[in-house]
Amino acid sequence: MRFPDEFLADLRYRNRIEEIVGGYVNLKRTGSTYKGLCPFHGEKTPSFTVYPSTNSYYCFGCGSGGDVITFIRNAENLDYTEAVKLLADRAGMSMPETGYDDSAEKLRRTVYAINRETARFYAEYLKNDPQKIGYKYFKERKLTDKTIVRFGLGYAPDSWTALCNHLHKKGFKDEEMVIANVAVRGRNGKVYDRFRKKYMFPIIDLRGNVIAFGGRKHAEDEGGKYLNTNDTPVYKKSKTLFGMNFAKSSKSERFILCEGYMDAIALHQAGFDFAVATCGTAFTEEQANLLSRYCKEVIITMDADEAGQKASDRAARILQNTGLKLRILQIDGGKDPDEYIKAYGADRFKLLLDGAKNELDFKLLRAKNKFDLNIDAERLEYLNEAVEILSSIDDELGVEVYVGRVAEECKINKNTILERVKNKAKSKRRYSNAKAFKDIVRTNRKVDEINPEEQSNKRAAAAERSILSVLMHDGYLLDKVKNDLSEDDFVTPFHRRVFKAISNVLEKTSEFDITLLSGDFSPSEMGRIVQISTASFVYKNAEEQLLDCISVLKEEKNKVKVVDTDNLNNDDFASLIDKIGKNKK
Ligand SMILES: [Zn+2]
Repeated sequence: MRFPDEFLADLRYRNRIEEIVGGYVNLKRTGSTYKGLCPFHGEKTPSFTVYPSTNSYYCFGCGSGGDVITFIRNAENLDYTEAVKLLADRAGMSMPETGYDDSAEKLRRTVYAINRETARFYAEYLKNDPQKIGYKYFKERKLTDKTIVRFGLGYAPDSWTALCNHLHKKGFKDEEMVIANVAVRGRNGKVYDRFRKKYMFPIIDLRGNVIAFGGRKHAEDEGGKYLNTNDTPVYKKSKTLFGMNFAKSSKSERFILCEGYMDAIALHQAGFDFAVATCGTAFTEEQANLLSRYCKEVIITMDADEAGQKASDRAARILQNTGLKLRILQIDGGKDPDEYIKAYGADRFKLLLDGAKNELDFKLLRAKNKFDLNIDAERLEYLNEAVEILSSIDDELGVEVYVGRVAEECKINKNTILERVKNKAKSKRRYSNAKAFKDIVRTNRKVDEINPEEQSNKRAAAAERSILSVLMHDGYLLDKVKNDLSEDDFVTPFHRRVFKAISNVLEKTSEFDITLLSGDFSPSEMGRIVQISTASFVYKNAEEQLLDCISVLKEEKNKVKVVDTDNLNNDDFASLIDKIGKNKK
């Protein structure tokens, strides 16, 4: 798939990388580059760097990198053509008429259309159903008509074919309905409705497309509470938060993260337009990154049962790595936000939110509630748990404050507790250092999926990287070495491919442009290419370095060949001897 070079150059020119990335990441200028927190992995100190001079970005934490198109592919979960389309639309450019494969984009558009039609069908059924089953349910949950319309709520009738028949009439094919996951193919080969007898919650993306559904079962039906859409070409549940389409425009800098669709909707109805919910999955890093783009603080509110507590701990652990402020709201009496607001009203819930505890307070309180502090043995148990919790704080002053409080609660000398906390923290640090070391060793042993041959050809690969880097920065040098260097000289296949692609670009333009590669390489390969281009080389003279590396590469290439001389025919052998002879001169 290829777009004309001029089109891509224009696209890149009109979508400056620092501006595009700046729309997702809070970037700070440092000299000629920009830095920010990586949107693709959780981190507290910025290792994500944007290089306007080469139109590229690279994260030293997770290795993701590329050009502006690669960034959009990663950030919006799009394929190459769709990312180009998004950037072209943004810049008001029209797409070239022919010459690219848009089948993936067409399929997505069909799935969006099916989802929209399906949502409309369920919403209509909710209204027109003579028994009003769905409508009555949402009314019982105290939702207003306005809320029902705003969230596009619906009802899937107790039928195997109602939706499929409707979609057939609208011209959609069986296969497309199955891909959209609103229909399932049965053993007899026929398709049938996936959601039957369910209260339907459409899930809407940030651009207003219906991308999936959560279907709530009737209380008397077996199995889990919800049936959710599986991942489709337009939906990744690990990347989506319910309610985000509204919350993203909220003025609030704090968001509420809750467990269920109903909680989020009830909160929105009560005026808390910054509530979002996970879509029937455990909270993920991708969801945390999404949140960090729109708010500064997250208040977690999960059910008081054991599963809810686990979910809350997990979310807190993941959110801690995003730099977001974090508080945890536990509602007395084990109520969820929906029930609480119904019982006491929005104003009291607002007070509850304002008083939500930070994570440490919350954990200490949870520990304390387990024990009766009037009994010596239980007080000791509480103390042990508190020491464990406090030994994980980095902030010395914070430790002092909390230790003082625990000392008072347990009526024990403050310094005794402080010493225990410090000892515990020390041994934890030792353990985590050892673990980090082990992790590094393990990562290094991992197979390199992009260029697996690199591992067994380290010297050659290093020379290759150096050659590629020089050519990306000083493209004019390619002419000088044309006769000494060809793709056959490259030992590792990935570097060979990159060399070929760079040569192709440099044949047409004197200045290398990484955007011209992104059609031929996957996002993770693009990351590797930018890594190669950004690696700092200690050289004074690029040309000298290039020539040195070429001779290293030739040496290595010959070594590789010598290893399998057994399999050479006579001609090859003669030419190899010839080559080695030439190298010696
Ligand atoms: Zn990263």
